[in-house]
Amino acid sequence: MSQGIKNTLIIGLGLIGGSLAKVLRQNRCCGQIIGFDRDPEETKLGLSSGVIDVAADSLADAVSQADIIVLAVPVKAMEKVLVDIAPFIAEETLITDVGSTKANVVEAAKRVFDQVPSGFVPGHPIAGSEKSGVAAADEHLFEQHKIILTPLAESSSYAVKVFTEMWASTGAEVLIMDVEKHDEVLAATSHLPHMLAFSLVDTLAQEQGNNTDIFRYAAGGFRDFTRIAGSDPTMWHDICLANRDALLAQLDRYTSGLAKLRAAIECGDSETMLGTFTRARAAREHFSRILSGTAYSQDMSNQLVTFRAQPGGSVSGKIRVPGDKSISHRSIMLGSLADGVTEVTGFLEGEDSLATLQAFRDMGVVIEGPDDGNVTIYGVGVNGLSAPPGPLYVGNSGTSMRLLSGLLAAQQFDSELTGDASLTKRPMGRVADPLRLMGAEIETAENGRPPMKIKGGQALKGIHYDMPMASAQVKSCLLLAGLYAEGETSVTEPAPTRDHTERMLTGFGYPVEQNGSKAAVKSGGQLHATRIDVPADISSATFFLVAAAIAPGSDLTLEHVGINPTRVGIINILRLMGANLELLNEREVGGEPVADIRIRYAPLKGIHIPEDQVPLAIDEFPALFIAAACAEGTTIVSGAEELRVKESDRIQSMVDGLKALGVDIEGTPDGAIIQGGEIGGGVVESHDDHRIAMSFCVAALRATGEITITDCANVATSFPGFVELAQTAGIKVEKEEG
Ligand code: NAP
Repeated sequence: MSQGIKNTLIIGLGLIGGSLAKVLRQNRCCGQIIGFDRDPEETKLGLSSGVIDVAADSLADAVSQADIIVLAVPVKAMEKVLVDIAPFIAEETLITDVGSTKANVVEAAKRVFDQVPSGFVPGHPIAGSEKSGVAAADEHLFEQHKIILTPLAESSSYAVKVFTEMWASTGAEVLIMDVEKHDEVLAATSHLPHMLAFSLVDTLAQEQGNNTDIFRYAAGGFRDFTRIAGSDPTMWHDICLANRDALLAQLDRYTSGLAKLRAAIECGDSETMLGTFTRARAAREHFSRILSGTAYSQDMSNQLVTFRAQPGGSVSGKIRVPGDKSISHRSIMLGSLADGVTEVTGFLEGEDSLATLQAFRDMGVVIEGPDDGNVTIYGVGVNGLSAPPGPLYVGNSGTSMRLLSGLLAAQQFDSELTGDASLTKRPMGRVADPLRLMGAEIETAENGRPPMKIKGGQALKGIHYDMPMASAQVKSCLLLAGLYAEGETSVTEPAPTRDHTERMLTGFGYPVEQNGSKAAVKSGGQLHATRIDVPADISSATFFLVAAAIAPGSDLTLEHVGINPTRVGIINILRLMGANLELLNEREVGGEPVADIRIRYAPLKGIHIPEDQVPLAIDEFPALFIAAACAEGTTIVSGAEELRVKESDRIQSMVDGLKALGVDIEGTPDGAIIQGGEIGGGVVESHDDHRIAMSFCVAALRATGEITITDCANVATSFPGFVELAQTAGIKVEKEEG
């Protein structure tokens, strides 16, 4: 804090003024604390109870001595106090206030001073209680609360710095906002709820006859909700007048929302009722995380999770691994655009697919769940999305951002897509460029990075696009835009990519023309609600397929696994290695082929993995390396250079890990050469790569000693419940946290 502050004067020794005085007196951050209140008894009490150092007898003297003046009087009294002190303020005096509204305090200052002093920085601590008076002063009142400073154009940066340090010394977090924004935000988050609480209690209290019963039997919810109706009536009267316009605007919005809910209750409109409640619950759950910019993705990097896997054992029984992520995303998107109610089961409740779900809620779609993988989507039709209230935040999910950009480019409303810090570094030009060719107006940050600002109301035209890269996300984005574009939109891919979007569109009854490497849609069609049992993710199933393939005595059935032809490389490769694997009960669900996979132990042999299978199994290689280490002979992986740019350099991570366990393995630029043999125990680094971590867990089934795997926290994002399911199947793994 600045050395120059010798005296701080607090005018108005009530709850807020007294609490600030008390903490500043204790932390000695602002020199000597002088108190003044219009009630001399309060000032005296402040002195005798140790809240202030000095009680000011004369306001004029106190003001002329003060380096800092804090106005802690009711908002209505601010102007009068400013008039009283104006003649005694020195040029360098720093002034702030704690009033709950800001525009009226600034207006008052403008009326009192010809020119607002550069030392004036209005402020508002977002902390308080229903108590008042200096007797309620509490030095901890501001700890871990926010304080908003609203500097004016005239405010000096020195004054802002001093007040920032003053409030920070009380344990508060200091935010800077402009005056108008402050009043708008506070009208919504503080003033409106106070009005509701006052009005509710008053309405119930006036009920004839049974009001005592209402209060006597009131449950915790009523008490929580109405606690703030115990606040100071005069203060709230003043706030209502001071922030009249912003508060009236919020009251009108609230009243119309309540009227809609009333109408829904009256006519039994369940969709509106559930829509209101589910949106509100989701918003509340995500509220704090949205504010901190980490919604949907917990920061896993701070957690230390270690897996310890004991050697030996086998796997058996019937298990179902979590749902496919790609299909979970698309079930929400297409279910929202469909006519009618879509029921989804097996939905992957991972952070990424939850981000998509929230985005559609923000665009007015009523979605119930997820509840144990069950989601109900009340589709709004292809043209039924509505403008979201603000930017759509998709956390870390590139799929959400890229696919949504195609849909949003064709909507009538403007929109903005944002994500977390890591998503903000990823390129969006690969979708923005072809969308622009269709007539979309999209602005991105430098180098095509998020946020993406998308202008609504553009008439898109169908194009034919030859993708320069093989990307299912780009293809899907353009096909979704094609649902709205004039004529036909078609995409050709240089190599096969996942075709979940095409399949699911077909599952929803929307025609997609497939011709070799080209997929095409025409606009003007309709999607019909359907039932989607999201297939289990074959990439997650892989760990258990390999487990059964390498552990003698194993007999495991993996239920309802997606066997999309673009994803079945693992099945083909394991079969080539000699695995005893059967596809049972093959069927189609929402356009996707699904089967139960039964796999029994059979000795594996080393092979040269055919390069045409590599793209179909690209995520499965870490587990395949384990299978190769347990096979008889040599396994050669080639043509898999993409493994070097996944979540970690997967070739290097696997080579290092297997070497640490005594396996004979050699990395090559595009793969590895692995000699089957014995796997020892040891410590393996996962490099924060979930698939590396899970693969080494499986390796323990054939190891001769314990395998310890470090940095396994990320497993939770792709495979929630992995350790528990592995234990059920027979893998002796334990998770250690901390
Ligand atoms: P409080 O406990 O009633 O304290 C206000 C004090 O100021 C009282 O002692 C009052 O004296 C005195 N006062 C009134 N007019 C004065 C004048 N002309 N000269 C000197 N002293 C005067 O109220 P509070 O809760 O601390 O609120 C103070 C300010 O903080 C308000 O602007 C309020 O909007 C803001 N605020 C309050 C809360 C909260 O939760 N309470 C939270 C954030 C901000 P009398 O008792 O004689 O009137």
